[in-house]
Amino acid sequence: ASKAGGRNCVHAATSDLIDEHIRRRRIEQDMPAALENSGMHVAFQPILRLDNGHLDSIETLVRWTHPVLGPVPADQIVRAAEHTNQILPMTLMVLNAACEMRKVLERQHSKAQVAVNLSPRLLGYSGLAARISAILLQHQCPPQALVLELTEDAAMVRSDVSDANVEALRALGVSFSIDDFGTGYSNLSRLGHGDFQQIKLDRSLVSQIAANARTRDIVANVTRMAKDLGMVVVGEGIETEEDAAQLQGLGVTLGQGFYLGRPMSASMLCAWLEKNAVQSIHSLPLAVAR
Ligand code: C2E
Ligand code: MG
Ligand code: MG
Ligand code: MG
Repeated sequence: ASKAGGRNCVHAATSDLIDEHIRRRRIEQDMPAALENSGMHVAFQPILRLDNGHLDSIETLVRWTHPVLGPVPADQIVRAAEHTNQILPMTLMVLNAACEMRKVLERQHSKAQVAVNLSPRLLGYSGLAARISAILLQHQCPPQALVLELTEDAAMVRSDVSDANVEALRALGVSFSIDDFGTGYSNLSRLGHGDFQQIKLDRSLVSQIAANARTRDIVANVTRMAKDLGMVVVGEGIETEEDAAQLQGLGVTLGQGFYLGRPMSASMLCAWLEKNAVQSIHSLPLAVAR
């Protein structure tokens, strides 16, 4: 009986793999139409100052609900877009949405920046800086309002083309942030040459912060070094009041996470902004806890 069970398990595992493969193919096949027909959209998640709850910036996150498969996780959207050579149009769609959001913020007299995730592959495309700057111009969006997020490993891999892109975008006034810091390999001194203005501590560090004294040591040291190098530190994936309070105690300036604000549609974010502007200082429990 156990043999038969084992065979069935292998069978089930194989058919799962096949399902997964079919699903991927379907995602890749249906992506061009989704991109062309506004089937994809963008969610916005606030990044706040931990000391007073004021809005610092807003990260854009790609979203796609497939008509048959349902919501596709963002990392799968990105992987499929890379696979099928559509990462440029996908990213420009997100950048457009970021520029629209920047206009909304401007109307509310907010100086908050908008952040867009950049796939490492795109940084190696020689036309990237020109395409980004054309979209900023088209929306009359000041380049200073844009932050580009690169994962730690992507930030470490450099080539002549990617260096030229970073240099051109920096010259325009765009800032760069190192995403998911703590998951890859990098040395802080390499990061301290001025290309990066911000680092985002990965959720895997933040989620350990309350329970693990060693993690607190690491975060305190990384934060001190980052600050010495002139970078602002963001804690990602803050899910509890305690996470926020601990990070603030360790010198982290900014925070992002479900506890502070979930990724939202543009209209939900507008409502959230109004509420936040009125009561940010008093409504944030962590500010009270100080
Ligand atoms: P990321 O850039 O590190 O974005 C943060 C991710 O953490 C988002 O997942 C967000 O929804 C999630 N998150 C935020 N706060 C919390 C929290 O408190 N708890 C938990 N458990 N999660 C939280 P999402 O939207 O699924 O995106 C996953 C990744 O996909 C992103 O990680 C980014 O690397 C990539 N991605 C998303 N949108 C884009 C895009 O437009 N372009 C590119 N190239 N990559 C994107
Ligand atoms: Mg990011
Ligand atoms: Mg991240
Ligand atoms: Mg991430």
